[in-house]
Amino acid sequence: MNPDLIVIGAGIVGAAAALAATQAGLETVIVESAVPGAGVTGAGMGHLVILDDALLALSARSLELWRALPDHAGSEYRNTGTIWVAETADDLAGLAQQSIHLEAQNVTSRLLDGASLQALEPDLARDLPGGLLVPDDAIVYAPKALAYLLEQARSAGARLLLGRRVTRLTGGGVRFADGTTLTGAVLVATGSQGSELLPELPIAPRKGHLVVTERASASIRHQLVEAGYLRTVHEPGQATVAMNVQPRPEGQLLVGSSRESGIQDPGVSPGIVARMLRRVFRFLPTLREHSAIRIWSGFRPATPDGLPYIGRIPGRGQVWAALGHEGLGITTATGTAELLVDLMLERRGRIDPAPFDPARRMLAP
Ligand SMILES: Cc1cc2nc3c(=O)[nH]c(=O)nc-3n(C[C@H](O)[C@H](O)[C@H](O)COP(=O)(O)OP(=O)(O)OC[C@H]3O[C@@H](n4cnc5c(N)ncnc54)[C@H](O)[C@@H]3O)c2cc1C
Repeated sequence: MNPDLIVIGAGIVGAAAALAATQAGLETVIVESAVPGAGVTGAGMGHLVILDDALLALSARSLELWRALPDHAGSEYRNTGTIWVAETADDLAGLAQQSIHLEAQNVTSRLLDGASLQALEPDLARDLPGGLLVPDDAIVYAPKALAYLLEQARSAGARLLLGRRVTRLTGGGVRFADGTTLTGAVLVATGSQGSELLPELPIAPRKGHLVVTERASASIRHQLVEAGYLRTVHEPGQATVAMNVQPRPEGQLLVGSSRESGIQDPGVSPGIVARMLRRVFRFLPTLREHSAIRIWSGFRPATPDGLPYIGRIPGRGQVWAALGHEGLGITTATGTAELLVDLMLERRGRIDPAPFDPARRMLAP
């Protein structure tokens, strides 16, 4: 039977959208060329974070939706909170502004002076002037969160077709590599490969590295991110690094982060990893004593203006996009899914769709 909606891509964005669509009563099929998590979702850090930029409303709503998922602990959700760490007095002033913006979205936060920061995270360098605690931020284990969303979608009635590559959009559905077709409305959620099916939407892969340490008795309790992190996100073209460290429940630490544009080689770049670790040691000197057990990279799907494409593609009938979530797709998968289904069912939703309208950046076909 032909479905109402064909979701292409079983990454975190496609999985969340399939769950929301199925729960809204749409017959949904998810098609995946490889296996779930084969794309960037399998390489991500799983920090569920409210960012103080153009994604503030979407990320804040997404956190609410993560918390509201039934049995969300199945995604290895843990409420660690985030501490944004200032290096300078200017950083701390910026964090005070961030706190005001968060409050406007009803997000609780608490400004910390140097002594309070030390009390909460004694491994941090002693010369740091303070930070901002956002207690409701959380972490998930991204592959587990994806498996959880897919399982929820399947229990709600969605079907999953693995190992089926979509080679083109037919106008009323999709054509697979083996020549067979499927009819229905289409949601393209293929991450960094989005432009292959929708060449009018520019997406550039942005490489990032993560390091995971051995299990050890680090005393870090919160996700720690340096206050300058957002500057590195919004500097396309430059190779940037920022301290971003996540304590895993098993005692390991996930250590990031880096951003490089214009690179296709998925191999580890030793120079950028060394720069990244030097930055991390500036904030967490004791981390020098930990051994890394694995380093890997992934490609964030980046758009020219840093905002995802969420909505219908003009001129293509019932073809929709959920693409270009860069470094925030695990966080914003839930809000993206809600927004899409609201748009599909012509419901007035909680998030303003205008900033994410794919029409804003479409290239001539
Ligand atoms: C180092 C690093 C750290 C990160 N940390 C975080 C973090 O802490 N928090 C956060 O929120 N985000 C983080 N991210 C970003 C996050 O991982 C991504 O934004 C998110 O995973 C994007 O998911 P997606 O579903 O859009 O894409 P993907 O996971 O890439 O899924 C797309 C799927 O589509 C499939 N596919 C592609 N083409 C076809 C086709 N033609 N037919 C069928 N299937 C197809 C692929 O196989 C893939 O499985 C991080 C990313 C990196 C690289």
